[in-house]
Amino acid sequence: MNIQDYIRDVQDFPTEGILFKDITPLLNNSEARKLMLEKLYNKCKNLKIDKVVGIESRGFFFGMALADQLNAGFVPLRKKGKLPYSTVSQKYGLEYGEDELEMHTDAIQQGDNVLLHDDVLATGGTAKAACDLIQSKGGKIVQCNFIMKLDFLKGEEKLVPHHIEAVLNY
Ligand code: AMP
Repeated sequence: MNIQDYIRDVQDFPTEGILFKDITPLLNNSEARKLMLEKLYNKCKNLKIDKVVGIESRGFFFGMALADQLNAGFVPLRKKGKLPYSTVSQKYGLEYGEDELEMHTDAIQQGDNVLLHDDVLATGGTAKAACDLIQSKGGKIVQCNFIMKLDFLKGEEKLVPHHIEAVLNY
């Protein structure tokens, strides 16, 4: 099975000029989905992780599954105005537009070892904002873990000095 066959390219979504990497075919095939989870887990299974942080919304699917496998807590980072309890927030620039991420103030404890997970690392603005939120609460970022990395956008440079892992590179 070639797992790349389950990532669908959608041209000009959500705006013109963006080649959107659609993971829904991957989610929709149990064999491909399990293989992806295995590949993601292989990249972090030897780490001691207290919390997996997943970024809304496509970081929730495998983020939660990884938290299960790592016996870690799961923390959802959400777009502004979605989380019910008290929050810390961080603005960031996107490949397409601007946005703001929020995290519950009690989600991360000082010294927690954190694995950050999302589907796509593009310009790195989203993941950087997530790292800033985690660190503002004293979390230690052990790994930033992605399904795929769009190398030409150089998102990795924004995440220095964090350790980055991705199953696929484009
Ligand atoms: P960035 O902040 O530029 O690294 O963008 C990363 C976030 O936007 C992730 O949450 C992705 O889900 C989403 N994203 C950015 N670019 C794409 C793309 N080309 N295809 C799919 N998702 C993307």
